[in-house]
Amino acid sequence: PLSVILIDVDFFKRYNDTYGHQAGDECLKKIAQAVASVVKRQGDLVARYGGEEFVVILPATDVPGAVRVAEEIRLAVAEANLEHRSSTVREIVSLSQGIATLIPRLDTSPDELIAAADEALYYAKSRGRDRYVVFDRKMQDRSLAIMQVEKDLRLALEREEFCLHYQPIVSLINGEIVGFEALVRWNHPQRGLVSPAEFIPIAEQTGLITSMSWWIFHQACCQLREWQLRFPHYQTLMMSINLSGKQLEQLGMVERVDRILQEVGVAASSIKLEITESSFKETPALGTILNHLKAMGFQLAIDDFGTGYSSLSRLHQFPIDTLKIDRSFINQMSRDPKGVAIVEAIVILAQHTNINTISEGIETIAQLEQLQSLNCEFGQGYLFSKPLDSHAASALLAQ
Ligand code: C2E
Ligand code: CA
Ligand code: CA
Ligand code: CA
Repeated sequence: PLSVILIDVDFFKRYNDTYGHQAGDECLKKIAQAVASVVKRQGDLVARYGGEEFVVILPATDVPGAVRVAEEIRLAVAEANLEHRSSTVREIVSLSQGIATLIPRLDTSPDELIAAADEALYYAKSRGRDRYVVFDRKMQDRSLAIMQVEKDLRLALEREEFCLHYQPIVSLINGEIVGFEALVRWNHPQRGLVSPAEFIPIAEQTGLITSMSWWIFHQACCQLREWQLRFPHYQTLMMSINLSGKQLEQLGMVERVDRILQEVGVAASSIKLEITESSFKETPALGTILNHLKAMGFQLAIDDFGTGYSSLSRLHQFPIDTLKIDRSFINQMSRDPKGVAIVEAIVILAQHTNINTISEGIETIAQLEQLQSLNCEFGQGYLFSKPLDSHAASALLAQ
């Protein structure tokens, strides 16, 4: 059998902040040495694999053998950590390791083996720091399914099978449409409209989300421009666009956004960028980027607010304009007085910090009335309208 270990190195946030990226590179070299000191049998191979990943290839090694190597690597790196120990930084890195072992068959390509290790690595990372996970059958099925969807998504992007639907956001005070949220759909030639819940997570995992998000951003801006020209009395109409954490981290993101705005001819002030609460945790440099976007004139919203367990005091460091109260709280409200208290607390806190609130997923008149009495300003949900295709959304504005 042939085994592969994919190793992902994660720096603790403060390390690069404190010592800079050059020190980070030095540190990666040390780790490479630590890994190489373990993997020294003839025929074994260690290589850098992308920025902060290493790949270890172990011929004639079964699963227990590969696990032993993974454990030794962890110990060697822990020791390298100890050498670095100082008063400010106690541990420098953690390792996640994905292990895959295959009995080479004629039809097994190196690509598949790496994809399997990558899948295991993904599991290891999702379970916390310093773990290794061995690829198994269940993952194999999942991995194959993901590879298939990834292929399909790539093709879909080329063939322009994606489209945007638009859900109105209304003022809860007078019922007027103040904007739309752009929601992506996959117009699958066989399956019809596919929900983003099905393909966005895979697009995120495979990195395809970035090119997809740029298409979405451009498309939504074009639609807004068209509406501004066609419906002059809707001059202040906003377009809300969902951004993925990955997209925010992309180099040159701010410049690219600026270029699209110029090209299409819409003002940043009429675009609201929605960022999920969870991406605040996953994106260390987010503060800098958000300040940049804010300075350009964008409005910023925190999406799915209340599900990510972050405190409003921490979020207050960021230049946020809007909180979108997660659908689950609106849903809970009608059944449980505690739900009402939570929504009320969010609205009051937001008002005190000059942030406005949008409630998601309003489905009943009772919910609407409750939210009105809590002074929530804006809302969105099936009660007003489902997400509509461009045509139907235009008709709504023409009324
Ligand atoms: P989200 O950003 O929280 O979007 C709101 C979701 O709630 C949408 O689902 C919308 O159709 C649904 N919804 C709206 N009103 C109601 C209601 O009254 N009741 C119920 N039960 N649901 C309602 P959708 O379009 O399936 O999107 C799911 C998620 O996929 C979005 O959640 C968002 O996280 C992601 N997504 C959608 N479009 C994009 C996109 O263009 N880019 C990115 N990065 N993510 C997207
Ligand atoms: Ca990493
Ligand atoms: Ca959203
Ligand atoms: Ca949401």
